[in-house]
Amino acid sequence: MLFSELARYYQKLEDVSSRLKMIDIMADIFKNADKDEIKSIIYMTEGVLAPAFEGLDFGVAEKLLEEAIAVAAGMDKGEVEKAYKKYGDMGIAAQELISQSKLRRMNAKKYSVLEVYGVMNKIAVTSGSGSKDAKIKMLAELLAGSSPEEAKFMARYPIGQLRLGAGDSTILEALSVAFTGSRESKAELENAYNICSDLGYIGEVLSKKGISEVRSLKVSLFKPIRPALAERLPTAEEIIKKMGGKCAVEQKYDGFRCQVHKSGKKVKIYSRNLEETTDMLPDIAKAAITEINEEHIIFEGEALGMNEATGEFLPFQETMQRKRKHGITEKIEELPLHLVAFDIMYLNGKDLMKEPYEARRNLLENAVKGAKMITPSKRIITTEPKELEEFFETSVEGGLEGIVAKDLKAPYIAGARKFSWIKMKRSYKGELSDTLDLVIVGYFLGRGSRTEFKFGGLLCAAYNKKRDMFETISKIGTGFTEANMQAFYELLSKAVVKQKPARVDSLITPDFWVEPKYVITVKADEITKSPMHTCGMQEDRSGEKAGYALRFPRIVGDGFIRRDKSPEDATSTSEIIEMFNDQKRVSVK
Ligand code: ATP
Repeated sequence: MLFSELARYYQKLEDVSSRLKMIDIMADIFKNADKDEIKSIIYMTEGVLAPAFEGLDFGVAEKLLEEAIAVAAGMDKGEVEKAYKKYGDMGIAAQELISQSKLRRMNAKKYSVLEVYGVMNKIAVTSGSGSKDAKIKMLAELLAGSSPEEAKFMARYPIGQLRLGAGDSTILEALSVAFTGSRESKAELENAYNICSDLGYIGEVLSKKGISEVRSLKVSLFKPIRPALAERLPTAEEIIKKMGGKCAVEQKYDGFRCQVHKSGKKVKIYSRNLEETTDMLPDIAKAAITEINEEHIIFEGEALGMNEATGEFLPFQETMQRKRKHGITEKIEELPLHLVAFDIMYLNGKDLMKEPYEARRNLLENAVKGAKMITPSKRIITTEPKELEEFFETSVEGGLEGIVAKDLKAPYIAGARKFSWIKMKRSYKGELSDTLDLVIVGYFLGRGSRTEFKFGGLLCAAYNKKRDMFETISKIGTGFTEANMQAFYELLSKAVVKQKPARVDSLITPDFWVEPKYVITVKADEITKSPMHTCGMQEDRSGEKAGYALRFPRIVGDGFIRRDKSPEDATSTSEIIEMFNDQKRVSVK
């Protein structure tokens, strides 16, 4: 496929306002591409070069791109800066300048998709001294030989601003349509994706070998598994009932989640959002080699600092200090990390995903036997709400977050939030003090005293997994400092899209729509019903339509943007509905 053809499809994706049409366009791309191109096209459409766990960044800053555009268009850097300021979009700036360039006709090339992807890869792996100039040269050559329409997407791609609005689920559905003729295989594709976290790979296997081969994909070392997630319930009685009268109850540790893959002396550790973090956790990597006797293993746990004198785990903030890249070596001495292991998914050639929890737990305990820095989570098995409650209280008194109850018979359910794991934190008891993770879908201009900031508030959404849509739940207009407003403006103005993104469902029109990609953590006093928001919107008995909304919403956290969560990891509509119902139940008591 020529890159010019792909760029035409991308333009269509940008213009479309319905999710279903988006899927049709993407399915057309896959149908018309060569089988050898599918993998690269998927990565390109996701705006990446490889799956997140490979950690391959473009290493292209806006300034570098500006220089490349200037060289390609035979213009001054100042003119590129001016155009970028004017359009607020590097793609449109590149498109305009390339179309005005006198050099263009002499250089016109017919790039294939693989050529463009190949050069982008080369740009990414170029590092060290002189790499900046080399990157500029490669990008400039690419842009100089392209049409204005191609330049638009070529410029956006390496700076993460493609803004096509396609999520994992959308791409999987389009793959299903393209290669099996219907949407029905999406669930199977999703299962396969959950165990390898690589959409490009799934697309390649599907296009070359068919759906049966995708079905038989197994867990493998150094391809991280998408994490199992926990549902929530507010009381011990409800947990025991939901679990069918008996369950395991593990302490809930508040550190950061690690998925450890070990094969002989090779170890890689992946975070909750499946980025490789081995370099930041050298002590855990070492312990996996020296303390675990199994040759080939994938297991999972929570990494935490410990006060060695008292044997108590440290609070999250203190553990996090350690995670910052700087001073890792000194911090190892000061604050060695422990790994509290809570699951195992693979052992010496055997995929354990379908084994029941209890069997996995035995294998896990066996694997970590005798280890010092890696220990199994503390747990009980109970049929009694009272016993669960007491275990919960002791955990909280010991400075932990709460408990996670586990269904003794359940397999490891990758990439999904199911009732096979149920969390209960202290905060659920009594009020809505658990936080929500919401996706920013738009923002408002400052009014009154805020006019000077060009930012006055956010429009936020929850994720409806079934519909693969972002449904609005709240406007957030309070609690921002001047510095926050400036920071939000700078971040969001670069993610503005000209119309409501196809996967956003909203009755409110903000001053600017933004590509749904940033997640923030929000606290609120209560979940209420509102006709203004589309989250979980349904007709009530009187025929009025109402969705869910937040009362007194405010942002929490210092860094604001949850870089560890993708938009599809945001609190889901069904969780909001459950939280609304829990809130009612608790307040009635
Ligand atoms: P989630 O991970 O469910 O999206 P979150 O990131 O806000 O939400 P929590 O709601 O606090 O996290 O709870 C789930 C997390 O708890 C898991 O992702 C895991 O990192 C952590 N955890 C701590 N102890 C355990 C345990 N014993 N079993 C399973 N998970 C545990």
